Amino acid sequence: MKEYQSTVLLFYFCQVVAKKIIITIDGWSSCGKSTLAKQLAKELGYLYVDSGAMYRAITLYFLRNNIDLAEKKEVKEALKSISLEFVFNPKSSSSEIYLNDENVEYVIRDMVVAEKVSDVAAIKEVREFAVAQQQLMGKKKGIVMDGRDIGTVVFPKAELKIFMTADNAIRVQRRFKELYEKNPNVTIEEVKDNLEMRDYIDSHREVSPLRKAKDAIELDNTNLTEKEQFSKALILARDKIAQLK
Ligand code: C5P
Repeated sequence: MKEYQSTVLLFYFCQVVAKKIIITIDGWSSCGKSTLAKQLAKELGYLYVDSGAMYRAITLYFLRNNIDLAEKKEVKEALKSISLEFVFNPKSSSSEIYLNDENVEYVIRDMVVAEKVSDVAAIKEVREFAVAQQQLMGKKKGIVMDGRDIGTVVFPKAELKIFMTADNAIRVQRRFKELYEKNPNVTIEEVKDNLEMRDYIDSHREVSPLRKAKDAIELDNTNLTEKEQFSKALILARDKIAQLK
């Protein structure tokens, strides 16, 4: 009897898991990837993972501990001391990143981190460290992850891949507005230079460069409101989910 019950339970568990998909959202810096990913995850009851936050948290650790990026051994040792975790905060209704049990969700958005993160993210060992954890998070599907290599490297078999783009000037304005609210000393030139630098390094690095996956759907949101962008993406997601039934 017990064996029968567990077989039935396993059957239902598999059915529930089978109906969930993996959604990847990649694209240039400040395209609104995380806004869309959060909305989709909330609507579908999926887990949202901000992969950029992981690279930012690793960068913060390296900065705090003066890790020399050119020293492979030092980098590898430092990675052993890093533990990353996402914890859901009901107040912000979003998951926030913890670096060795410290909530670093806000401090990793500083320009100091933004200046270094693309150099850190270009290191093979750093990527291996982050990608292994990202793939584990997606084991049960039901996940929306945004980043640069999610559809190409982390989940190459994801059911829905979105590649986001937007006009450069719009992206700069959006990021500037976001940063200015936290730090009125930030200048638009600084933000523009940082976005251009990150996009360049991210798309020219040797390991997992930023690319649109062949099977990704491009979403240019230059002239879309958040609501319009969300409804387009939701239709795509629901279509994919329906195909599984
Ligand atoms: O998404 P966000 O802008 O916070 O990412 C910060 C940086 O982390 C990116 O500019 C990129 O260098 C790196 N990143 C990456 N791969 C990802 C996500 C982010 O290389 N999947």
